[in-house]
Amino acid sequence: MNLPGACGSVTSLQKPQPSGYSSDGVQCNTVRLTSIPLSMLRILTLETTCDETAAAVVTDSLEVLGSVVVSQDSLHQKFGGVVPEIASRAHLENLLPVIDETLRRAGISLTNLDAIAVATMPGLAGSLLVGLIAAKTLALVLQKPLIAVNHLQAHIYACKVAFKAELPDGGPFPCVGLIVSGGHTSLYRCNGAIDFTLLGGTIDDAAGEAFDKVAAMLGLPYPGGPSIQKAAATGNPKAYSFPRSLLHEDRLAFSFSGLKTAVRYHLFGVGDSKPGSSGAGGVSLIPPVSESEVSDIAASFQEAAVDCLVGKSVQALKQIGLSTLCVGGGVAANARFRKKLEDSAHKNDFRLYMAPPALCTDNAVMGAIAVERYQAGLFEPLDLDVSPGLVR
Ligand code: ADP
Ligand code: MG
Repeated sequence: MNLPGACGSVTSLQKPQPSGYSSDGVQCNTVRLTSIPLSMLRILTLETTCDETAAAVVTDSLEVLGSVVVSQDSLHQKFGGVVPEIASRAHLENLLPVIDETLRRAGISLTNLDAIAVATMPGLAGSLLVGLIAAKTLALVLQKPLIAVNHLQAHIYACKVAFKAELPDGGPFPCVGLIVSGGHTSLYRCNGAIDFTLLGGTIDDAAGEAFDKVAAMLGLPYPGGPSIQKAAATGNPKAYSFPRSLLHEDRLAFSFSGLKTAVRYHLFGVGDSKPGSSGAGGVSLIPPVSESEVSDIAASFQEAAVDCLVGKSVQALKQIGLSTLCVGGGVAANARFRKKLEDSAHKNDFRLYMAPPALCTDNAVMGAIAVERYQAGLFEPLDLDVSPGLVR
């Protein structure tokens, strides 16, 4: 494949600039025409790692020209979790319309793109493959470079995109990065945008997985994180003392399985867990529990999970000797977590960059990390494969 050199080939093209984006930079329904700087690089990024089909067009100055995210929540809701086969089939149906709409919002055509980027790791194999095949096809047909995006690094890069105005060119690096989602709860030493060293992660469930499962136990709808947050808003976080596993150990690791089981025992009693009797689709078969008790359990669970996430992040900063924390992933959208992390940043005197909520759950804007790879000349051959494996 011929890789283009610098992107100076555009001469007098009129480039639509999004007006009316939301503060998170994701939505941009209207476009207005302005001149394009001659050197602007435009990359189409694709995201199909799990259950969101997303595309974005981003520039080398980390502007978001267009972005679309189609969630599959309604398809998976009745199963109480993501069904991989359904997810990949939905990506197949959604991806081309999502790309078309993204380009329409960006006001450009495929031929105006300088590179195609796609998240290739980690994620569900079938879901990742849909994005990869689309990206390879576009790269081949358009004769543009193909760029591989590490979805976990991209979650942290969302902070650089969101805070680009106040960050130095190099971004927030070096920093500690906390990625907290449905599949991952991991701490990294982020030496640079694409240079991460794993410090530690969960030894069992991811935090988002615990939110989803506890919500199912409480008869609350999927995805569980937003449901727990909503129920917790009227609950007492001190009503029940659920465990904060590993919090007081030096080890940089998380464990949410015991917390999840503690909620289950609280609801069903020890040894009477009636497997399969609760959960899917928000259909509650739990013993009669009042709405206020559901709120108290949700708030107490949320508080315990948040304490672990905040506590371990602070521990990581101290152990590694860094004073900047970046946070991304779906659970980072949690309002209680954000508040407690902000309080901790003031108390412990560290710089905190949290991806805005719309850039926490899966999206393609964070695929702007492809700019870093483009600038480093890191392009992929067309036999590129996906790397689904969980990183823990
Ligand atoms: P993935 O789909 O790769 O697991 P996402 O980054 O899309 O990752 O995150 C989805 C997870 O985030 C789900 O487990 C969901 O319950 C959780 N989540 C989303 N919003 C919230 C919230 N407000 N509070 C807690 N968890 C949340
Ligand atoms: Mg998701």
